[in-house]
Amino acid sequence: MIKGFELKEESGSVFLQLLHLRGIKHAFGTREEREGMAAAFGFSSQQLLTLRQVHGAEVLVVKENPDTLPHPLPYDAAITRREGVALGVWTADCVPILMVDQSKGVIGAVHAGWRGLRHGIVERTISKMGESFRSPPGDILVGIGPGIGPCCYEVGKDVVNLFQSSRDDGHLFIQEREGRSFLDLGFASRLQLSKAGVAPENIEAIPLCTACREDLFFSYRRDGKTGRQLSFIMLG
Ligand SMILES: [Zn+2]
Repeated sequence: MIKGFELKEESGSVFLQLLHLRGIKHAFGTREEREGMAAAFGFSSQQLLTLRQVHGAEVLVVKENPDTLPHPLPYDAAITRREGVALGVWTADCVPILMVDQSKGVIGAVHAGWRGLRHGIVERTISKMGESFRSPPGDILVGIGPGIGPCCYEVGKDVVNLFQSSRDDGHLFIQEREGRSFLDLGFASRLQLSKAGVAPENIEAIPLCTACREDLFFSYRRDGKTGRQLSFIMLG
């Protein structure tokens, strides 16, 4: 498995790509998207399917032409086998996660924030790929994009308690430092992926914190109301 990621610029858009997803059309966006990601990758904005992202744990299975779906779509993850559909995720601290099973030709995109993770959005997406398209978890490659890191994501006792009361592994998501609690969304995502049967060597993450890297990313925690970066994956 190839490790690492690349920072690229095309048509005025700056984005990151994971080397282990090389050959799969995908990108994790940054705040620099002057022409838009679609232009950089040669697809139209009509081909981009984004979700309402309601911080839940529902997974949209796209089998039909996405134009026929009733919008808005109140989901936080989508999976499909259709070529030419770019599954997109908007984030500004939450973690964008992209998935592909090349053996069955299935992709997935997940918006993973603390609420969704608490309800198992990542595990649920992997199971849905199995139920809907027979993707074996062992064949799925996963890319965890840039989100807010445990360096910056302090949470209150209410959030800590919610995690600990609702999940047996909840305590593993939290780091304690000097009497303060910090949430590690990337690690929480990895845990859920492993639990769902994804091989650790098939998971690669971009270890950049959206709050630390003002030069690259929008961050809700750092800036308050702000823009969001787009990440996407597509077949074909
Ligand atoms: Zn940070």
